[in-house]
Amino acid sequence: MMRAVRYHGPKLPLQLESVPKPTPKVGEVLVKVTAAGLCHTELHFLSGLLNLGVQPLTLGHEMVGVVEEVGVGVESPKAGDRVILYYYVGCGRCAHCLAGDENLCDALRAEYGFVTDGGFAEYAVVPARNAVPLPAGISDEAAAPIGCGVTTAVHAAGLARLAAGDVVLVYGVGAVSFGLIQLASLAGAEVIAVSRTPAKLDKAKGLGAAHVLSATEGKVAERVREITRGHGADVVFELVATKETMAASTAALAKRGRLVFIGYSEDSYTVHPIQLVITEASVTGAVGNTLGELVRAVDLVARGKIRTVVDRVLPLGEFQAGIDALAKGKLIGRAILKP
Ligand SMILES: [Zn+2]
Ligand SMILES: [Zn+2]
Repeated sequence: MMRAVRYHGPKLPLQLESVPKPTPKVGEVLVKVTAAGLCHTELHFLSGLLNLGVQPLTLGHEMVGVVEEVGVGVESPKAGDRVILYYYVGCGRCAHCLAGDENLCDALRAEYGFVTDGGFAEYAVVPARNAVPLPAGISDEAAAPIGCGVTTAVHAAGLARLAAGDVVLVYGVGAVSFGLIQLASLAGAEVIAVSRTPAKLDKAKGLGAAHVLSATEGKVAERVREITRGHGADVVFELVATKETMAASTAALAKRGRLVFIGYSEDSYTVHPIQLVITEASVTGAVGNTLGELVRAVDLVARGKIRTVVDRVLPLGEFQAGIDALAKGKLIGRAILKP
């Protein structure tokens, strides 16, 4: 048996429970989890905003650990290797999988921490190809936020077609945003970050944001126009997506600007088509990431191009303290659970 943090449905508290320790089948590896990041998605599960209907379920899709045992037919990784786990297992046959876009698979075989038991546990079992080697020099705790935070940023930045000289508005500052700010800066873009929390804005500035705006002062679109001398934002990454922020995000768009939704709330997005027509602006969503993007994100962190931000490290049993801090907006970066 092993300890795991289990989800039992919307509005019900997570519970630390004893569940059977999994065993690796053909082509799979058993990983002893050493660090697992708490993502905002966990709050969406708890509120019921995201309800995929699978429960009980071990949450946690940012997983780092050490391979303890390999199943029949696995050549790599080997027992003892440090790895970070990719959380989608696509069918491998649909058009999306064949194009490398496993996050859009038509027939997912697994999605750890979403519909399949994830990383808030002592052990996880995944196909060998989902276990990406972790270079020495990145600690387990620092690596965990790569799994969703940095890799989702790599994915969204790709969809946004970031280019040198672009003005990039990052609306809301969390783990994905810290990745976006650094990626946009690396690409030669000028970053404007918006948050309610001064400490998050300080961190955003430290990671390369040229300008930071306090959301509490309002008038975000107007201030973006001022900073850019009327141009607006070529790319807006929406990580908050309330009625108020979505209106400002849309109003801040430059001509041919790209609004990319990564976050969501209870609120719907309403826009008059004329706002998009006369600016030729486009609106898209970004969900998760691909295995190739995880490999790229690990490489960027290993080479020191991107830094992850960890607020605190907690023993698995203290998961509720992490959830509470996340819900109150108190975390500057990830809370990491150590099983
Ligand atoms: Zn996540
Ligand atoms: Zn597929």
